[in-house]
Amino acid sequence: MDIFLDKYCLKCLFYLAAEAGPHHILKMYNTSGSVVNISPRLQANSVDSYYRLEVVASDLQSETNSPFFTVCVFRLRHLEDKVTEDVGKTPEIICELKSQVEAFKRKLEVLHTNKHFHLFLPSLSRAAFMLESVLCCCSSLQVTEEVREHLKTPIFDNWQWEEAEMLVLLQVMYTDLDFLTAFNIELEVLQNFLFEVYCHYNNIPFHNFQHCFCVTQMMYGLIWLTDLRNKLGRTELLIMLTSALCHDLDHPGYNNVYQINAQTDLALRYNDISPLENHHCAVAFGILAKPECNILKNLTTEQYKHIRGGMIKCILATDMARHNEILNKFKVMQPVFDFTNKDHKEVLMKIMVKVSDISNEARPMAVAEPWLDCLLQEFFNQSDTEKLKGLPVTPFMDRDKVSKPSSQTNFIRFVLLPLFTELTKLFPCLQVKAFIHRFSSFIESCLSESEQDDNTEEDKGEEEEEEASHSSLTASVPFSSSVSER
Ligand SMILES: [Zn+2]
Repeated sequence: MDIFLDKYCLKCLFYLAAEAGPHHILKMYNTSGSVVNISPRLQANSVDSYYRLEVVASDLQSETNSPFFTVCVFRLRHLEDKVTEDVGKTPEIICELKSQVEAFKRKLEVLHTNKHFHLFLPSLSRAAFMLESVLCCCSSLQVTEEVREHLKTPIFDNWQWEEAEMLVLLQVMYTDLDFLTAFNIELEVLQNFLFEVYCHYNNIPFHNFQHCFCVTQMMYGLIWLTDLRNKLGRTELLIMLTSALCHDLDHPGYNNVYQINAQTDLALRYNDISPLENHHCAVAFGILAKPECNILKNLTTEQYKHIRGGMIKCILATDMARHNEILNKFKVMQPVFDFTNKDHKEVLMKIMVKVSDISNEARPMAVAEPWLDCLLQEFFNQSDTEKLKGLPVTPFMDRDKVSKPSSQTNFIRFVLLPLFTELTKLFPCLQVKAFIHRFSSFIESCLSESEQDDNTEEDKGEEEEEEASHSSLTASVPFSSSVSER
């Protein structure tokens, strides 16, 4: 209880310092851009290792009607009355304050009434900047038939799109799968939901909103490619797409191994059992608990329970410590796979979310390669922190030891390829050859990069070592954990 109180007080202190309201989300980052947990165990900062606070508006509707705002207006009016009474006229400073309050109120009202603005504004502190980019994006973005079709393919290039545009594209995915009609979802509620999801992804190198978009887009593409619309029900499709969207919510940039070793709040809360995945899922349902964001609010209790159960299973399945368990189940079902069998459908849905999560290398090289750098950046951040804190250093994250080409070739050979091969048995229409072709060109490029490396011999040794560990891929093998970061 003491810890809870301390933490609560500490959070209040930061909220006060940042002048944040109750509808804001507070995010704190260290100098390397990693999210720092605001807890009593927070390390002291210094001029060189300062913290940066970011205030995110999670709910603009409440913001305009916020009691803080109302109190502010009330107090200003009270002050004005009092001063006018004493001095005889309204002082200039009060007039200035009044006009500032009015201008801010008008701005919020404009944002609230304009769906595009409402949808895209992620942070009041960045309001001016975003307003400009949103204006720019809305005037230029047209979701043409060509874009809609391209969105259904696994060659879609996320790097060509701004985050504001991605929100529009996510909306298109929900619309084009007929979810709005099938589940009676109001457009505004969907937009609020997507906006909240966007707000709850952290500004970290890999597990950010762009990763969320890519995974959701791959899931969307696979649904069309495999013709799942005619094989599964709309409910199953909604579960899969929404699970992909929410699967890494509020990821702190440090994996489960770190959470457990550092005994973080998440590890304590979830007893070391998939702490991150449990958290992602809990955050998702926290968002859905807000009526204005609840895309499931018009469903029956039974339907809601079914979707909630499905999403929990799919999101928890993204923990790579469970990779072999889930893949083996799928393998056993393959010869007798039945689309009407509840258990079979459940495993397939997990596999689809897993495939989407780790499918960067299935994309064209120009799309896939930058993602690898983002992943390594996040890995290095973790190993640096582990070294600083005296925790066990995760080998494949160590900037002094990691070999980019070998880790990639092994990841493709031992994780991605077996997964896609199994999926192709069920969906020959996937034209997995196209994927395999991309995998092999990726491997070739990695190998040629490796050859150019002066330390070829060292890499080879490391590769052989890693290969040996892959052949017995289990939850405890470090490489399997490395995949969980995707
Ligand atoms: Zn992920």
